[in-house]
Amino acid sequence: MCGIVGYAGLEQAAPILLNGLEKLEYRGYDSAGIAIGREDGIEIVKAKGRLNVLREMTDDGKTISGTWGIGHTRWATHGEPSTNNSHPHYSRGKRVVVVHNGIIENHQELKDRLIKKGYRFQTQTDTEVAAQLLDFYYKGDPLDAIQQALIRVTGSYALGILFQDFPGVIYAVRKDCPLIVGAASHGNFIASDVPAILNHTRTVYEIQNMEIVKMTDHDLHFYNLDGEEIEKQANHIDWDAEAAEKSGYEHFMMKEIHEQPKAVRDTISARIHENRLDLSQIGLSGEQMKSFRRIYIVACGSAYHVGVAARYVMEDLARVPVEVDLASEFRYRNPVLEEQSLCIVISQSGETADSLAALREAKTRGIPVLAVVNVLGSSIAREADYVMYTWAGPEISVATTKAYSTQLAALYMFSMELAREKEQISMETCEALVAELLLLPDKIERILADKERIQW
Ligand code: GLU
Repeated sequence: MCGIVGYAGLEQAAPILLNGLEKLEYRGYDSAGIAIGREDGIEIVKAKGRLNVLREMTDDGKTISGTWGIGHTRWATHGEPSTNNSHPHYSRGKRVVVVHNGIIENHQELKDRLIKKGYRFQTQTDTEVAAQLLDFYYKGDPLDAIQQALIRVTGSYALGILFQDFPGVIYAVRKDCPLIVGAASHGNFIASDVPAILNHTRTVYEIQNMEIVKMTDHDLHFYNLDGEEIEKQANHIDWDAEAAEKSGYEHFMMKEIHEQPKAVRDTISARIHENRLDLSQIGLSGEQMKSFRRIYIVACGSAYHVGVAARYVMEDLARVPVEVDLASEFRYRNPVLEEQSLCIVISQSGETADSLAALREAKTRGIPVLAVVNVLGSSIAREADYVMYTWAGPEISVATTKAYSTQLAALYMFSMELAREKEQISMETCEALVAELLLLPDKIERILADKERIQW
């Protein structure tokens, strides 16, 4: 989702990591952090807010010495944006330190198991679970620990990993989140995106799902999940810096259109377990769902159009009357709101001023509000009674694509749950709809693969 940079080389790592992270700033983030290795241990500096805060804390990286390390800009998905929740995360005694992009879907289950084994957690993130799990399986061989841990993790991830016992070595692995390796004359890099390393090298290795990287300042090794070493061909990147920010796509909108399969997959798959919908994280009880006599969907712009589409689904499946309003109208028109209803506010940023005002209006009138929001910890997410996050990652393009698709997917899921609680659809129908929903990311992928023909 957001940014990862790692460096093992002959130069000081902290300034290189900060500069690399800066090249990924365009993606948006809420906090940043770096972990720098030295023979006597690993030093971590992290802070909520802009990279500049980190720069000031470390005098542009000069106050932390060490020639290898990993850095991260976070787009929070689990746990509010805060200094404590920002990456890197680590296990006890910093035996294992990680930065992570993506979502660990079974984090709660893994966390419960680790707690039973005596592990203590300091953050609300899914990422800390990865650090502790690696620690649990670490018996002196990092590669083995990574293999053992990863077969137990479901979800999407790019991970940069330091093991305290292995000075100078960086490990990395990915599944469904981008990760590349760059080879420069003065050292090796990992990064979630090309711009982070373009100032140092154009020689890049693409890492495929479940491949593991081990690198030092002069050495690069790649392994499959069985721990067998694999050969990789380097590619030469000839994009200019501007094109690189868009992963080679013509513009951000095109890039984000292609990110839709992953965004929709992230939004739905964490909420479906063994073909059953599980929206318990929202916090609305079955009794509450049953009691809603009317739904008000309030939003602006494209999010309003999501509401218009969702209305058909919700009325059709759950047989509840739905009203869809532009937030700018809702907030000023003194609406008549029925008791025992629910207001759903949809917003990518969670900061849309009219939608926030509409949310407050509904709450003042005693109507509970469910927010469907992309940005964790945003104003609308904080003020709503219930939140359902879309996990689309940062959206740079003003014209929305992946945020829209994930909002739609979220509301489809909510409609199914509502219909089931209201006993308007059977468990079998719900399971059939869930099975259809699970096919959606692959279908989007197939359409995108055929886009030239469709355009023609
Ligand atoms: N899920 C992780 C978190 O919330 C990583 C987010 C990211 O990709 O930046 O901390």
